[in-house]
Amino acid sequence: MKIYADNAATTRVSKTALDAMIPVFTEMYGNPSSLYSLGQEAKEAIENAREEIAGIIGAEPREIIFTSGGSESDNHAIRSAAELGKKNGKCHIISSAFEHHAVLHTLKRLEKEGFEVTLLDVHENGIVDPKELENAIRPDTCLVTVMCANNEIGTLQPIREIGEICRNKGVLFHTDAVQAVGHIPINVKTDNIDMMSASAHKFHGPKGIGFLYASKKVRLSNLIEGGAQESGRRAGTENVPEIIGMAAALKEAVSNMEENSKVMCEARDRLIEGLSEIPHSALNGDRDKRLPGNVNFCFEGIEGESLLLLLDDKGISASSGSACTSGSLDPSHVLLAIGRIHDVAHGSLRLSIGEDITKEETEYIIKSVKEVVEYLRSFSPVWRDLTTGKKQFIL
Ligand SMILES: *Cc1c(COP(=O)(O)O)cnc(C)c1O
Repeated sequence: MKIYADNAATTRVSKTALDAMIPVFTEMYGNPSSLYSLGQEAKEAIENAREEIAGIIGAEPREIIFTSGGSESDNHAIRSAAELGKKNGKCHIISSAFEHHAVLHTLKRLEKEGFEVTLLDVHENGIVDPKELENAIRPDTCLVTVMCANNEIGTLQPIREIGEICRNKGVLFHTDAVQAVGHIPINVKTDNIDMMSASAHKFHGPKGIGFLYASKKVRLSNLIEGGAQESGRRAGTENVPEIIGMAAALKEAVSNMEENSKVMCEARDRLIEGLSEIPHSALNGDRDKRLPGNVNFCFEGIEGESLLLLLDDKGISASSGSACTSGSLDPSHVLLAIGRIHDVAHGSLRLSIGEDITKEETEYIIKSVKEVVEYLRSFSPVWRDLTTGKKQFIL
């Protein structure tokens, strides 16, 4: 059996998105800035895509700017807000301890440039407390950036409440919604969002394309100087095929959202139930306030990396953290943020299932994880120390 259970890292391009893109490569290949009809056709297709995406999230077309993906959108949004803040003498930014590195590393850079950053605790359940956020806002706060759904443990944040607090206090609110867009309902107006990042390859669109929503009240800085594309805020010939592919993928994801969500939640809940039977294991993140497709566990006494390799042998593609942290020996900053100690955080497994998951596959995953965890524990020195009482169990 072959099961792809790493949809939080990236997703397969849907047939709908691919079919929408192919003729753009070979037929509608004109430069959107050219005046002849071949170029103007491409220009029109881009503007239709912009309108479609804007409509889906409750924005105006001019509030959507196309980017190369989630990381760029995060960088652009945060840098723009920081620039605006600095002009007004406001150099304080609030975020959370378990953001994506595209946010955290941008904030690190800003700290070096003189900004002050407050990272909110995400508690054991992986959720920011809006009251704590409200208390952290100061007269010199220029931006709050809190993600919509965490990419490792899938926990959903109280975005609407946070947005409302920010609006009342006159502070800009950005959310990294890369894991949420196309998966759960989002409306930038009712959710009180000023800026929002999204990436196509997380909702069955192509890689290397995304968008940033920025309310018309926010003046984005010019990220790339050059031509007049994207109102001068991001110069360079547009990635026409992928923009079209992204719009097609998003439209499809949103129209199937309800039934997809039902399938994934059912499989997710069964996985959580099945994997909880493994002794000395624990679910990471809130049991209910989580993405439909996310399951994240810690198993005591094993290494996440070995677990992944053995699951791969059984045909299962999974992850032990974000793609950026795997490959390094540091445990996930997300698991540390929810209070897991190093040893326990090392034995983590993230399964991010897709909407095509079957009941047989779900059972196969449970059976395989149980087998592999038992096998790894059978020769783990840490597990021996735990079972002989030399070390205390934590989970
Ligand atoms: C994947 C991801 C990103 C990065 O998006 P790219 O398009 O790969 O740059 C940012 N934030 C979150 C929450 C993500 O899951």
